Formats: sequence, structure tokens, C-alpha cells
Amino acid sequence: MRTILLVEDNEMNRDMLSRRLERKGYRVEVAVDGLRGVEMAVSHAPDLVLMDMSLPVLDGWEATRRLKAAPATRHVPVIALTAHAMAGDREKALQAGCDDYDTKPIELPRLLGKIEALLGGAAGPADATDKESP
Ligand code: MN
Repeated sequence: MRTILLVEDNEMNRDMLSRRLERKGYRVEVAVDGLRGVEMAVSHAPDLVLMDMSLPVLDGWEATRRLKAAPATRHVPVIALTAHAMAGDREKALQAGCDDYDTKPIELPRLLGKIEALLGGAAGPADATDKESP
């Protein structure tokens, strides 16, 4: 099962998105601030990180820069999530090292498309076993 690390400080967004991703067949780990997100990316080795940009302790921009600067985590795809649909944010996200970018409010089909593009396919049914893995 693929693991997504969701770094999001807003409890309602975090709970809603993690539930919906779990229903789509992903294992979801959550971090509530940017520093914890960086630590958990190292300790949990997720397949992908969903990174809110507005976070306490360490914002999403800096957390992503740290992930992309560290050999242990630089290969992990990061999708930036931001509420600010401002011109220039996409550019800023890509410059920070994010692999893709999406805006809140989350439209799940659109976000899933970006996740699947970076992971090379859908998660499969939530109750699928690991039998297809080597
Ligand atoms: Mn936030």
C-alpha cells in the first residue's frame, strides 16, 4: 500500500483529506507542522508528500526546501497545497522544489490525478492486498 504524508495544520482539512485518501486506498500519515513533516518524511519514508504551504514552526516552502536538499528525501515527490491562488505561487512552489501544485479548496479527482501521475498509477481498491507487489 502506498503511503502519503499529509502535512497540514488545519485539523478539519487534515481529517477530511486523510479520510478521503484512505478510502481511495492510500495509507495516510499526518504531520501538523513543517518541522514534524520533515522529520516524518525521514522516519516514515512516504511515497509522496502533500504539503500545505502555510504551516507553523516551519512553513511549507522551507520544509520542502529541506526535503529536497536531503539525500534521504529528495526523491520523494512533493505536491504543494495552498489556499492562495495567486499568480506566482505555482512558480514559487516549483522553485522550492515541489513536483506539482494544487489549490484549496481541494477537488479530490483533480488532486488524485496529480498524485497518480507522480506515483505512476492509482492506489487500487482500499481493501487490496499486496499480492501484486514483487
Ligand atoms: Mn495551513
